[in-house]
Amino acid sequence: MTLLERYAGVAGHDVMEHLRQLAGLLEGASVVHVNATPEGGGVAEILTPLIPLSRELGLDATWEVLEGSPEFFACTKRIHNAVQGQRTVPDAAALELYDEVNARNVRRLTPMLEEADFVFIHDPQPAAFLRHLPQRRGRWIWRCHIDASHPEPRVWRFLREMVAPYDASIFSLPAFVRPLPHPSYVIPPAIDPLSEKNQDPDAAAVKATCARFGLDPERPLIVQISRFDRFKDPVGVIVAYRLAVRFVPGLQLVLAGGGAADDPEGAEVLAEVRAEAGDDPDIHVLELPSRDDLTVNALQRAADIVVQKSLREGFGLTVTEGMWKGRPVIGGDTGGIRLQVVNHHTGFLVSSPEGAALRIRYLLYNQQARLRMGATAREFARESFLLTRQLREYLTLMVALRDRAGERIRLG
Ligand code: UDP
Repeated sequence: MTLLERYAGVAGHDVMEHLRQLAGLLEGASVVHVNATPEGGGVAEILTPLIPLSRELGLDATWEVLEGSPEFFACTKRIHNAVQGQRTVPDAAALELYDEVNARNVRRLTPMLEEADFVFIHDPQPAAFLRHLPQRRGRWIWRCHIDASHPEPRVWRFLREMVAPYDASIFSLPAFVRPLPHPSYVIPPAIDPLSEKNQDPDAAAVKATCARFGLDPERPLIVQISRFDRFKDPVGVIVAYRLAVRFVPGLQLVLAGGGAADDPEGAEVLAEVRAEAGDDPDIHVLELPSRDDLTVNALQRAADIVVQKSLREGFGLTVTEGMWKGRPVIGGDTGGIRLQVVNHHTGFLVSSPEGAALRIRYLLYNQQARLRMGATAREFARESFLLTRQLREYLTLMVALRDRAGERIRLG
C-alpha cells in the first residue's frame, strides 16, 4: 500500500484528493525544510512523516538539519527561552557565534537554498539563514513553533531583524502571534495518525501494558501522560482522583511521564507526586523511558478518560492523542487545550481539582455520554489535528505566496 493510500485509510479519501489537487497546483515545486534536530522534539516528529508524504504528492521536498556546536545550542536555548518570555539574554559573543554558525550552514547548503521554490525555516535556531542569502529565488517562511507572545524585548529585537525579510511567518495559535512586517498565518500543530504513538495497536498490546503495570482492565481508569512539571498539575490530578474515587469505587489513576532523571525540576516534581500518591495501590506513578511510544499509545487506549489538567499549556499534544483514540478529555481551561476540548462535546474544561472530579464522576456514571463524547473527539481530531490538515495548510500557503509573487511581477 502506498503512503497516500495509508493516509487515505485514516484521514479519508476526500482529504487526500484535496491534497493532490493542491500539490498539483505547485507542479513539483522544490521545498526545503530546515530545523535544528534530526530527532527528538515536536518539530522533528512532524517533519519525519511530512517529508515522505509531500514527496508522494509530487513535491520535491527535502529536510536539512542545521549543524552547530554545543556553544551554539546553548545560545539558541537561551534565545528560545527568551522568546517564550524568560528574562535571559545571550551575550554579544554568543550572538556573534549564532550568526556565524548560521552563515556557515548557509554556505554548506547554498545552491539548494538559492534554488528552492519554498524554504521553511523552523524556529529561531536557523532564523538568520535568510540574511546570508541575498540571492534567494524562492519564497521564505519562518515557522515559529513556540509561544512568542511575550518575548524578552532585546532578544526579540535581535530575532525580529532576522525574520522581518521573510515572505510570511506561521504561528501555532492566534495567541502566539507577534506582529511582523509580512503576513502571519496561524497553523496549529498536528499528530501523525500512522506513528507508533497513534496507530491502532492490537488489543493484546493494550492488555499486556495493563498487566505490566498492574492495572485491572475490568476497573475504570483515568490517565494523564505528561512531563513531571508543575504546569501540568499532576498533584491536582491526584486530588481530583481522591475526590472522584469516593463515588467511583475501584477507580484507578495513571500519571506517566518521562525525562525526570536528567531534569532537576522534573525529579523534584516527581518526588512531590510520589509523596502525594502515598501508598495508594490504585495510583500508578510511572516513569517512562523517552520515546516509549507504544506504551504511551497503549495507556491512552486503556484509559476510559484522558486527563490533561494543565495550569498552562502551549498546545497540548497529549490532548490530541487522547481524542484521536476516541477518549473524552478532561483538560485544564488554558492555552491550546481550549482549542481542542470543546466543553461538553469532546470533553470538559476544568479549572480546579473539584471541577475535574465532578466531570470524572459524570463520565464514569454515564457510559453513553462518555462514548458519544469520545466519538466526537476522534472525529474532531481527524478533521482538525492530523498531519494531513497541517500539510493542506502548508500547501495552501505555498500556493498563495506563489500567486502573490506572480502578482508582484505583473504589477511591476
Ligand atoms: N510524552 C511521551 N512520554 C512521556 C511524556 C510525554 O512520549 O513520558 C509525549 C506525549 O505523548 C506528547 C508529547 O510528549 O506527544 C508532549 O507534548 P505536549 O504538547 O502534550 O506537552 P509538552 O511536553 O510539549 O509541554
